[in-house]
Order: sequence, then C-alpha cells, then structure tokens
Amino acid sequence: MIHLIALLTVLWPSVVLATVDVTLKLSATNCLFGCFDALDLVSYSDIPATAGYYDGYCNSVLFRTSLLACTETYCSSRQETAGWKLITEYCTLYGEVDLPSLQDVKAEYDPNNVTTVDIFASTGEMMNSTIIPDETTFSAGYRTENVWNREMNFHHAFGWSMYILFGATVVFGIINRLIGYMARKSPLGAEESGGYPASKDSFLTRLNDMYARHLSTPALLGYRHCEPWGWLTIPTRLQGVLIFIYVLINIVFCCAAYDIFSENLYWPQDNADQIARYLADRTAILSFYNLPLLWVLAGRNDIILWVTGWSYTSANLFHRWVARMTVVEAIIHSAAWTWIEREYLAEEFAEQYWATGVFATVCMCLLLPFSILPLRQRWYEIFLLIHIVLGIAVLVLLWYHVKIMDGDYNAWIWACVAIWGFDRVLRLIRVVVLSFHVTKGANAIVTLGQHGLMRISVTTGIQLRPKPGQYYFLYSPRTLTPWENHPFTLASWTNETNTNTSKSKTQSRLEFLIAPRFGATSKLYRQVARSGGILESTILLDGPYGSQHDNLETFDSILFVAGGSGISAILPYLSHIIASDSFSKKSITVIWAIRQVEYASDILENELKEFIKTCDSNQRSLVLFITDPIGIHHLPPTTSETTTTTTIAPTSGPITTTLTTSLPLQDFESPVLESQEERDIEIFTKDIQSSSETGSRSGSNDKSTKTSIGIRQITGQRPVMRQVIQQSISHLVGEERLAVFGCGPGTMMDDLRKAVCDSYGNQQGQLSAHRLEYFEDQFGW
Ligand SMILES: Cc1cc2nc3c(=O)[nH]c(=O)nc-3n(C[C@H](O)[C@H](O)[C@H](O)COP(=O)(O)OP(=O)(O)OC[C@H]3O[C@@H](n4cnc5c(N)ncnc54)[C@H](O)[C@@H]3O)c2cc1C
Repeated sequence: MIHLIALLTVLWPSVVLATVDVTLKLSATNCLFGCFDALDLVSYSDIPATAGYYDGYCNSVLFRTSLLACTETYCSSRQETAGWKLITEYCTLYGEVDLPSLQDVKAEYDPNNVTTVDIFASTGEMMNSTIIPDETTFSAGYRTENVWNREMNFHHAFGWSMYILFGATVVFGIINRLIGYMARKSPLGAEESGGYPASKDSFLTRLNDMYARHLSTPALLGYRHCEPWGWLTIPTRLQGVLIFIYVLINIVFCCAAYDIFSENLYWPQDNADQIARYLADRTAILSFYNLPLLWVLAGRNDIILWVTGWSYTSANLFHRWVARMTVVEAIIHSAAWTWIEREYLAEEFAEQYWATGVFATVCMCLLLPFSILPLRQRWYEIFLLIHIVLGIAVLVLLWYHVKIMDGDYNAWIWACVAIWGFDRVLRLIRVVVLSFHVTKGANAIVTLGQHGLMRISVTTGIQLRPKPGQYYFLYSPRTLTPWENHPFTLASWTNETNTNTSKSKTQSRLEFLIAPRFGATSKLYRQVARSGGILESTILLDGPYGSQHDNLETFDSILFVAGGSGISAILPYLSHIIASDSFSKKSITVIWAIRQVEYASDILENELKEFIKTCDSNQRSLVLFITDPIGIHHLPPTTSETTTTTTIAPTSGPITTTLTTSLPLQDFESPVLESQEERDIEIFTKDIQSSSETGSRSGSNDKSTKTSIGIRQITGQRPVMRQVIQQSISHLVGEERLAVFGCGPGTMMDDLRKAVCDSYGNQQGQLSAHRLEYFEDQFGW
C-alpha cells in the first residue's frame, strides 16, 4: 500500500503538469482587457491630468468608445458582454464611476469614423478621437491577459494539487488502516502462522523484504533516527523520501510553467520584472496553501491522525518541513517584491499591505531559529510560548497584508484559525470532561519510588475505556505555571466505584510512571520528596491521544524492549495481551534495561506482577539489565518454586562503563549507557543453562545473573540488540511471526531499529518482512 502512495506521490506532479494546461479555461473577459492594455499605452485628450486611473478612463468618452471599437473589431459578442460587465464593476469599485451600458456607448461614436493606430509606434502620444489599436498591439495585449490569467490558474492549480496529493495520501492511510483491521477480523488462512499464508520466496516477497529493509524501517542515512544528529532529527528513510518529494514538488511548483515574452504589455521589454512578479505571486500563493497544512500537522486533536492512525511524532516531523517550505516561499515572495519595487521602497513601506507583509515574513523567519532542537529540549515552555505568540502574529499580519485582495485569500487564514480553534476547544472539553467532577479536592496521588521513578495515580471524572498506546497531557493547576502540560503514557488503569458521593458512580484511575527530568517533572519530584515520598495533588488530564499498534497481538511471538521509563509504553500492551484469549499461544519476551533494580521494583511488584506469574523459560521471559552494578536487588518471587533454564544469558567480559550515579535525577537522563563503545558490549552470545545460577553481587565489574523461571537479572551489562533479535528469531517455530516493540532512549531504539532492518531477508537468521515487524513509541517529538 505504501508503495502505491509513494508511486502516486512521484507521479502526481507530472500528471498535474501535463493535464493542467489543457484543462485550464481562460476567461472570456481577457479579450476586452487585452484591448484595454493596448489602449492604455497612449493618452486621451479628455482625461484631466489630475484624474485617477479608473475614474479617468471610465469618465473618458474617447477611451470608452475606443475600448468598444476595439472589442467590436477583435472580440466575440460573448467576450464583449463579459468584458463590459467586468469593466463596469471595476469602474464602480475603483473609480466610483457608473460606466454607461454597451448600447449607450455604441451611440457615443460613429464606427465609420474610427482610426486604426499603430500603438507601439505611438506610445505616450495624445489621442483626440476614437481609435482602434492595430492587430499587433491588440494581440500583445490579449496574450498579456491570457498569460496573466493562465499564471493565476497555475498558481492555484499547483496549490490545489498539493491538497489533492495530501488528501490522496490520507485516503490511502485510511484504506491501509481498514485493510489491517479487516485482516485482523478475518485471518487469511494458515492457523499455525497466525492467519498469514506461509512465506514463499516469490518476487513480491523479496520486494517486500527489500522495501522493509531499505525503505520503510531504516533511518534515512546511516543509523540515527531517535537520537538526533546535532540539531537535526533524522527521519526514517520512508519519511525522508516523502519529505523529499514534498520539497521537490514545492520547488518544481515554484519554478514551473512561466510564460515570459517581451511584448508583455504589463512589463514591455522587461523580462526580469515579469519573472520576479510571477515568482512573487507563485511563492506567495503556495505559501498560503501550505499554511493550513502546517496547522493541521501541528494539532493534538487532529481528524487526520484519528482516521489514519498516524502518530503525532510523524505529523510533527512533517509539520517542521511544511513550515520550512512555507517560510522559504514567504522569503522568496518578499525578496521578489522588494526587487520589483526597489525604487519605491520608502513609499511602499507606508502602505499597510506592504508593512504587514514585511513583519509577517520577519515573524515567520523568527519561528525557524526559535524552534531549533536545543531550545525545544532545554526550554520547551519558552519555545512553546514564542511559537504561539509568533503563530498568532503571523496570522494577524497576513490578514492585513491580503486585505487589498478583497478577501480572496482570507479563507486560508480562517482555515488555520478553525483548525487551531478546533484543537484548543477540544482540549478544553477533554480537560473539563475528565477532570471537572474531581477537582474540588485532590484527585491524584504521587508516590516516589526508591530511585526517583514517580507514580502518578489520577482519578477521572468519568469512566474510561483506555487502550494501550494512549497518552495524556497532565496539568498541575495549583502551581505557578498552571498552563504547563506534559505528555505521559498511560501505564495501567483500573475502574473503581466511588461511594463517597450521594450517587455512587464508576470512575477510572489512571496510572502514569514518570522519570523526573529537569523542568516540571523535577519540581514535582522535589515536592514529593519533601512531603515524605507521597503527595496528594490536583491533576487535570487532557487526553487520550496516541493510537494503538492494532496488529501487535496478531503476532505469534512478541519481543518488548524497554529502556528506563520506556517500560510505561509496554505495560498496557502486556496487560492487554495477557487478558486476551490468544495469550496462552503467544511467546513473549520483555527486555528491560535500567540503571538500578530499585528503580524497577515498584513496577515488578505491581504492573509486571501478572506477567511475571506467567513467565516460564519457553514461552515467556523477562530479562532485566541492571546497567549500574551497584544496584543489585532481589527480584520479586514468581509463583513457581522450581528454577529452570533461561533462554538468554550473558557472556563473560567486564563492563566498560564509567557511569556512576549518585544523584537520583541524573539517573533519568538516560537510563542506559549511551556511548558507542558501551553499546558494543556483547551479551547475548549463547544460550546457557542457568538453573539457579547467581553471580557475584558486588564490584564494578559485576556481571551477576539471578534467575528464576523465565526471569533473568543481568547486572553490569546492557543488551546487544542484534543478539536480542537473533535470539528471538531462533526461537520461532515454522512460519511463526515476530513483532518487535521498543520504547526507550534514542541510542537504544536506534540499535534496535538497525538490528531489525538487518534481519529482513531470506538468509540464515533472517525473516521475511511479513514475518517480522517493528513498532516503536518515542517519548518525544
Ligand atoms: C508521547 C509521549 C509520551 C511520554 N510518556 C512518558 C512516560 O510515560 N513517562 C515519562 O517519564 N516520560 C514520558 N514522556 C516524556 C515526558 O513528557 C517529558 O520527560 C516531560 O515532558 C519532561 O518535562 P520537564 O518539564 O521536566 O522537561 P525538561 O527537563 O525541561 O525537558 C526534557 C525533555 O522533555 C521534552 N518536553 C518538555 N516538555 C514537554 C512537553 N510539554 N511536551 C513534549 N515534550 C516535552 C523536552 O523537549 C526535552 O526533550 C513522554 C513524552 C511523549 C512525547
């Protein structure tokens, strides 16, 4: 399906370019205005020197009779009627003159007493009688109008084709989702392979493998995707291709289909001005068309994300690229106009449309440096505030900028306001509905785990039916920054009946696991620490957002890989699968890397308890990587008394980490080791029979393991993703399919993504793309 989207995206511009020229209709009014342009090159003795442009021409008997004589000679009666209607409107609107009707003007001159004038040869001369422009000048005028008309049509056709392309992509997104949904509802056959047909080494299978290995899964260049590269976020290759096509389309649309000719009566003999003007208009119009796309890709409440299931992270990535194109187009528009009006800049600046245009471009330009990654990472709230203020400023300034266009371009501004308003109103509704009944007192309890992981338990005003993959924005209204809100993934939930009120009602209790960072979360951490590790608070909720990876549970084997607080994203899926009928048939492995086991003990004893009960060596296992060797701790007991074989085990070799953590807050910056050398430590080199093996429990070179049924604690090392994947693949039986789901720090996820990419194929240790799929949740955008 995505092939189709990509193909369509590539073909679209050429299709548009090929067809648009044929399908565009030229206006019937062009003929009369062609006459107008030709007649405009000479002067008329009955127009006072003080007269304005339109009132001068509309009041002039010589000019209007010449105009009519010209249309009688060169235009059809339909063209003449249409043209006269429009020029009458212009006279009223811009000249405040009532132009006589066609019939009345016909009576004003004698058609037999009209001179044909070689206008080019007489440019600037004064005319004392009714004239007809010679054919050459009329043709130049007519072409001038037709070309102008066609250019305007092109500007808008290109803008609309961007929308059609975007709409088509959305439709394909919806169809793709529906097909996935139907496939889950009615599996295709082969029960043992989870409803999917056995793999054949067909051309399509190989093509699909190549697509997964080289296009859909990997990072654009090399290895980084989750982990930024300097100030840049690197998209996946498929995202990169789509971004490239979008940028290319914009460049082509900015440059294509200009008809420049030196007889153009708007700019006689001045091709540079012609190009500058068309470019200025094209870029302005494309920039305007991009504005609603920009807003639609930025909203939390976004119908497109709802219907397609696309992630906000992807939308946000495209939002940034659409923003860059919009700003570049605005800059080109401004530069071109500055060049055109280079001799009158001071006068122009006194005009409202000009000054507001200049300030709008400046605000748009400022948005780019004020959105760079370091600012978003370190001062998110400041970034957000600047973004909102500048965003509003741009819309207001553009409104005044296009006021002279008689409302022709207001629709685009209103579209942005509507999209923005829709999002904000829905946010408010969500907050009110979820929190209204419970905000009189405290509705949340925040507790502190041993190593700083906080658990926030929030009671909602109504009963919810949460799903895995959802996240909520949490507001703390009783702080100095009540507007501040942060996204957190729903880790678990329960429904409970509140009997405290006169009417007993069922509410939901949502649990979030939070790793303190440096801003609001660290403030909350300190607050909870000061109140002895438990704090009652008021928390407002805005959500749910995010969509479920629906087809995860169709896989026979699921490998969950989490780093630090990334376990939050995995827990709901685990609970969901445990509760499903097919759970007994599934093989599930959870790999969780954390700095110290104390960090995990709370979760192991609560959210993971049910899963731990089901752990056995063959089908379900949990492997904890304790990357800080100091933090060795006992795992909670499992239901079984016996110890048995584990499927995954460490090799020898000391850990090369220099990481020591004394301050709890630093623990959460990056729950697993991040340097390349550290990542190269290999752990999963062989299966070992571990029985009740327990290694050393002290020292910085510690690699102790502690196991019980299907559970392993590995200390002082971190997982090597390539081997984690290989182990999972080697345990598949027959045509079983493997899903890999990851949530954790950037480098860890990039390792995992790379390992999955390398595993696509039909060689030993590889799987066909229909048997291996990668899912990822990111705690950031
Ligand atoms: C979809 C999603 C789900 C998440 N789920 C969890 C979770 O379950 N548990 C958990 O511990 N963390 C989660 N996070 C991360 C969490 O939102 C940030 O750690 C938190 O916002 C940091 O707040 P701070 O003021 O302490 O940030 P800072 O220390 O100031 O910044 C730390 C990082 O958080 C980002 N950030 C700050 N504020 C916001 C915001 N309002 N929206 C988006 N990013 C922000 C910054 O860009 C920066 O990269 C999730 C993030 C996202 C996007």
